[in-house]
Amino acid sequence: EAKRNGKSAYARFTPEMGEISHERLQMESLMRKALELGEFELYFQPIVDTASGQAVTAEALIRWNNPTLGLVMPDRFIPLAEETGMITSIGEWVIGEACRAASRWRELGGFDVGVAVNVSPRQFRDPGFTNTVKRALEITGLNASLLELEITERLILDNTIETAEILRQLDHYGVRLSVDDFGTGYSALSYLKSYPFDTLKIDKSFIQDVLTETDDSSLVRAIINMAHSLGLNVVAEGVEEEAQTYFLQTEQCDFSQGYYYSRPLPESAFMDWLRTGKR
Ligand code: C2E
Ligand code: MG
Ligand code: MG
Ligand code: MG
Repeated sequence: EAKRNGKSAYARFTPEMGEISHERLQMESLMRKALELGEFELYFQPIVDTASGQAVTAEALIRWNNPTLGLVMPDRFIPLAEETGMITSIGEWVIGEACRAASRWRELGGFDVGVAVNVSPRQFRDPGFTNTVKRALEITGLNASLLELEITERLILDNTIETAEILRQLDHYGVRLSVDDFGTGYSALSYLKSYPFDTLKIDKSFIQDVLTETDDSSLVRAIINMAHSLGLNVVAEGVEEEAQTYFLQTEQCDFSQGYYYSRPLPESAFMDWLRTGKR
């Protein structure tokens, strides 16, 4: 019986494995052409001042529109882009495109709204990275303070000397630096005082149950107080309900982001939101 089970499990598993690697190979080869075929698109999600509801920044979130695969979300292809190294060129495109977009909002709409870009570890460590950032700012003429780079805790704690040097360089350009998904990585907090971060983004898993779980509300309160005493701003991610905004206002969380305000939107819809859709 055990043997039969083992065998059937084996027989069931092999073709699936084959499919997984086939899917992976297919995705990889489609991804190689995606940039030149113009299949990537940035969506933008407002990050608002919690007290006023006014947008101050928009997070750029990549989407991949592929004729074969359909609309592919970043969690499905960014890890593969990281593994294969394609993240370097994709990430370069994202930074350039995000800076162009923020310049357009200013020029076409008169909006004083910055842009936040996610940076993955391999992209961050690429020797050309800081130069890519500098060039994107030069080409678009975007004020450096309107560009924010989001970096995860994991990256920060991986490789200290190199990381410190890159962060210092970026800070020197005047770009804003934020810690993304704060609270989900390691718990060593000492990096917060030695690195030039401006903002902590509290992971949405803490915000989700902030009204019902006292542990979560205590943690969020503690993170906000700690951040403020270190001179950092705080963004709450994943705000979906009005009641959460009252909590965050009471706790003086500087900024908020989430479906309650707006889902990530294609650029034209985002500009419409800026014009009319503020809550
Ligand atoms: P992230 O940087 O933490 O981005 C926030 C994610 O939460 C986005 O998912 C956003 O759509 C989602 N979100 C926003 N508000 C809410 C809410 O109220 N409720 C819930 N449940 N979710 C909300 P998305 O767009 O699927 O992106 C997933 C992740 O992919 C991002 O997480 C980021 O780590 C990565 N990513 C996205 N764009 C890029 C990119 O251009 N480059 C790199 N390296 N990574 C990217
Ligand atoms: Mg992010
Ligand atoms: Mg700074
Ligand atoms: Mg996040």
